[in-house]
Amino acid sequence: MKREGFNKNDYNKTLLTVLIAITVVVCVAFVVVAVVLSDKGEGTSEKNPSVKVSAEEQSESNETEIPENNGMEKESEVIQEPEVPETEEKTPEWNLILANPWNSIPEDFTVELCDIGGGHKVDARIVDELNQMMSDLRAAGHSAFICSSYRTNDKQTTLYNNEVNEYRAMGYSDEDAAVEAGKWVAFPGTSEHQTGLAIDIMSSYYLVLDKGQEDTAEQQWLMENSYKYGFILRYPSDKSELTGIYYEPWHYRYVGKDVAKEIYEKGICFEEYLMY
Ligand SMILES: [Zn+2]
Repeated sequence: MKREGFNKNDYNKTLLTVLIAITVVVCVAFVVVAVVLSDKGEGTSEKNPSVKVSAEEQSESNETEIPENNGMEKESEVIQEPEVPETEEKTPEWNLILANPWNSIPEDFTVELCDIGGGHKVDARIVDELNQMMSDLRAAGHSAFICSSYRTNDKQTTLYNNEVNEYRAMGYSDEDAAVEAGKWVAFPGTSEHQTGLAIDIMSSYYLVLDKGQEDTAEQQWLMENSYKYGFILRYPSDKSELTGIYYEPWHYRYVGKDVAKEIYEKGICFEEYLMY
């Protein structure tokens, strides 16, 4: 009996001890899990605001703010997000491409050309308006013809080199000849003729491309009316410093009707239009 009683007490004590031990273990486990979870939670909540702040700063274009971001993986996201819309905004419309001594035509530039006869080609998108302009010019009793249109880079290179050689023959140094030639014939890669959007028009009654063209009835009509068809006199007499090219009262450039009208009415050149 004693043995049984002893055993019962002993059993109860053992059971109690086990229960306490389990309770302690469970409590400790809870505490550990709670601590671990709270650490993770704090880490996440700290990282998110830091990313947001950096993203805002990055969008204001300050690249020096990047090192403040602690999350290496997040950095690439932060850098890429603001760049996408900027790239899209900077893509120029086809009719507003700028080619001048300071702006070369992109190397990957391509254009769908259309043969307009006489050995000339232009951007297919301007053919209808160009034909209409030339047709109306003739209907007004004038006679003129297109004497230059789209040029390949090779063609432009040949024309430029010929011009340089002419200045050399006049006694100019190589450097001065290159500079002077560039004011009459655009350096290869910077000529509007390489875009397919420019044409030179010559009066049938004055077969020289010099300042005298402006006095012909044909050029007078074009200067007054070309904007109605989306063309501008690209190199006006008083804008050479902005265009980089001397006065050419025969070179017309397609920019579209709305843009041409604004340029005509304001008396500005294409570079000024793009600056506003
Ligand atoms: Zn030209």
